[in-house]
Amino acid sequence: MSTALVWLRRDLRVADQPALARAARAAERVAPLYIHTPDETWPRVGAASLWWLHHSLAALDTELAAAGSRLCLDSGPSTERLCHWAQVSDATVVYCTAIAEPWARQQEAAVAEALAGIGVRLEVLPDGLLTDPSAVRNRGGTPYRAFTPFWRSVRAQLDPPRPTPPPALPGLPEAIPEPQPLAALGLLPRIRWDEKLLPHWQPGAAGAQQRLEAFLGSAAADYAERRDYPAHPGTSRLSPHLHFGEVSIRSIWHAVEEARQALPAAAHGALDTFLAELGWREVAYHLLWQQPQLHETPIDERFSRFAWREDPHGTLLEAWRRGATGVPLVDAGMRELWATGWMHNRVRMVVGSFLVKNLRLPWQHGEAHFRDTLVDWDLASNSMGWQWVSGCGADAAPYFRIFNPVRQGERFDPDGEYVRQWVPEVAGLPKSHIHQPWAAPADARARSGLRLGYDYPEPLVDLTSSRKEALAAFQALG
Ligand SMILES: Cc1cc2nc3c(=O)[nH]c(=O)nc-3n(C[C@H](O)[C@H](O)[C@H](O)COP(=O)(O)OP(=O)(O)OC[C@H]3O[C@@H](n4cnc5c(N)ncnc54)[C@H](O)[C@@H]3O)c2cc1C
Repeated sequence: MSTALVWLRRDLRVADQPALARAARAAERVAPLYIHTPDETWPRVGAASLWWLHHSLAALDTELAAAGSRLCLDSGPSTERLCHWAQVSDATVVYCTAIAEPWARQQEAAVAEALAGIGVRLEVLPDGLLTDPSAVRNRGGTPYRAFTPFWRSVRAQLDPPRPTPPPALPGLPEAIPEPQPLAALGLLPRIRWDEKLLPHWQPGAAGAQQRLEAFLGSAAADYAERRDYPAHPGTSRLSPHLHFGEVSIRSIWHAVEEARQALPAAAHGALDTFLAELGWREVAYHLLWQQPQLHETPIDERFSRFAWREDPHGTLLEAWRRGATGVPLVDAGMRELWATGWMHNRVRMVVGSFLVKNLRLPWQHGEAHFRDTLVDWDLASNSMGWQWVSGCGADAAPYFRIFNPVRQGERFDPDGEYVRQWVPEVAGLPKSHIHQPWAAPADARARSGLRLGYDYPEPLVDLTSSRKEALAAFQALG
């Protein structure tokens, strides 16, 4: 009886899942297998992502059970464990989908070699992206550096295949190694800080589908106008689902195109804006392909010599991490991140700019903190995002464009609702002062019950002088 393994990694769904579909067609017995390999991923996956992974695997098991199969779990070196599973189950082929990250390509190459040594074939199928990040080229034959020409050229040619429905899955092989229980993978933190995350999310394909339908059914039509306002849910919040492959990128694309048919022409621009955001995700992988160390090495090499501020005891960094900088929009963002594992895109840019330009601390510290705390942490998007806010990336905001967190707050949180939600210490201030409590008249502060320096900190740095210092440091780069 022919047997196949499906090696699951970042494709945790049943519908439109190329590896499962191929195995279901080709073999009479199929074992869907997830192997936890923390030592093979670099940089190491952070705690919030591991939390998500735990729940995503649980949801996948339920989904597979409904399709007549189940999820097998294991941990250890991928080469050794896959060879063991292939030998015990008598599998002749292992199917998986590609992950366009440098460590994953190394992992795939090592696994292919090890399996070949015991006469088993590894077949890696494309998935996860609309483009092949290694293949996109401009007319001159070189990879793109900037988003706009990349997307203009890619978008015109995109014709993603229609998503396929869940396959009828064959049963498990008769003999398999003893799978591990989910708890044995140790994905949940020992100190259970994670319980606060669950009310905000439903990891897994069903949760992804709900988010997609909710977004296309309501916010999508106004996406272009509303996406920048953090107090209101104007974006899809699909990012963690996309990262873990709980929904296929092709099915999102086609769902958007179907929504287009149902919406008036005036709303079509909003859908194109949304598709362009998916394009940012594509270009991030294209850049990661060009620069495998994107999370730590600035694309603009001059930034390796940048005069970062000394923070010998890490107090500035810690205040930023804890949301105690004294700048309400920055603190609101950092607290939203801590409480929910997610932060609105506009605020990610603001807190990033504040860290790198006002505090003048290395962007790699911000990258690492996001990596640990975001449920949607994604090597390509996070690295590109940090290089972008720092002004050292391929398509970066110029360094001299420094976000003013007060102006950003007044513009994108004009009534102060977002700040009030996450920074209750300043909630009593009128909206005219909520984004800069230090500038509020003493009587306005007294009326709101705010004692600056006691209930809520004075700003860590002066926004005007720190801006000037950052510009001077930038100019010194030449
Ligand atoms: C400093 C910084 C760090 C970031 N780190 C990450 C990260 O680790 N993981 C991550 O998925 N995104 C990251 N982003 C991009 C963006 O903030 C998130 O993708 C977005 O906020 C997710 O929310 P959403 O799903 O509601 O987005 P929507 O607005 O609904 O967009 C739909 C999808 O498009 C993609 N997308 C949107 N904006 C971007 C972008 N600027 N770059 C790449 N993809 C994008 C995401 O997959 C997103 O789910 C970062 C941005 C910055 C400035």
